[in-house]
Amino acid sequence: MPAQILDGKIMSAELRVKIAERVAALKAKGVTPGLAVILVGEDPASQIYVRNKGKGCEEVGMRSVTINMPAETTQEALEEQIRALNADAGIHGILVQLPLPAHLDEAAALACIVPEKDVDGFHIRNAGRLLNGLPGVIACTPKGALEMIKRTGVNLSGKEAVVVGRSNIVGKPMAMLLLQENCTVTMCHSRTADLAAHTRRADVLVAAVGRANFITADMVKPGAIVIDVGINRVDGKVVGDVAYDAVKKVAGWITPVPGGVGRMTITMLLENTVEAAERTLA
Ligand code: NDP
Repeated sequence: MPAQILDGKIMSAELRVKIAERVAALKAKGVTPGLAVILVGEDPASQIYVRNKGKGCEEVGMRSVTINMPAETTQEALEEQIRALNADAGIHGILVQLPLPAHLDEAAALACIVPEKDVDGFHIRNAGRLLNGLPGVIACTPKGALEMIKRTGVNLSGKEAVVVGRSNIVGKPMAMLLLQENCTVTMCHSRTADLAAHTRRADVLVAAVGRANFITADMVKPGAIVIDVGINRVDGKVVGDVAYDAVKKVAGWITPVPGGVGRMTITMLLENTVEAAERTLA
């Protein structure tokens, strides 16, 4: 039987209705949740992501502000901009669109955002809270991916989960979230010996590598939940890290690209921003 599709568009539409209700409730109390996105330079992919984030805000009734800064922006100017947004009571979430131009220090810029407004969940304090099992802002992509995994209804406790990729923004937080769900988690990366031996054991397989069609059908356990985080451009088309058509025949559940994790990432960004606004009233 072919895999069931975990459709990020359908799930997002449902979740965004609930987020819009929370936005309306906040507005009734005089608070309009506001998201500020800082875009440095003119990277075309980043421009698309930023536009989609703005559209998402509009859809749920939030305020969104995009701050375009030139590619030659200095670290000082970027941090000054972030500090101004930290102090702005009308802004509840701040996001610095990555990657930044090479001359800028990403870690230092992210550290400048006050953790309460760090709706991307990349601040070291939020990452540390996740590691320690404390409440905090959870990075949008792994948060959305976990939501999709949970929608399968599979009891995750004791399941083998394999995360391919160990970045700070996807792989590591994903592994921590699955650990919190009581999965037995294996993290794989470019130095992993015999990757397929690990992936074939996975009841839950998350691919966050950035290589088109990297996970092939022979690397997947029959019936597995396969989450494709990858966004790769091949001949003008967006494809994931998973060889979708072939893996669909083996997996139990699979996320499409596009229309999968990417969509959910933006939905989680909206959710994190509403939560940040709600916290100001708590
Ligand atoms: P990074 O480049 O930061 O990390 C890629 C990871 O893949 C690294 O840990 C790397 O290992 C690992 N890797 C590379 N080659 C291999 C290999 N041959 N075998 C096993 N592991 C390998 O990427 P990100 O985590 O930022 O993003 C991953 C993908 O997800 C990209 O396609 C990106 O565009 C996409 N993405 C999608 C989002 C969404 O909303 N859907 C959001 C964020 C990212 P090592 O550490 O050893 O180098």
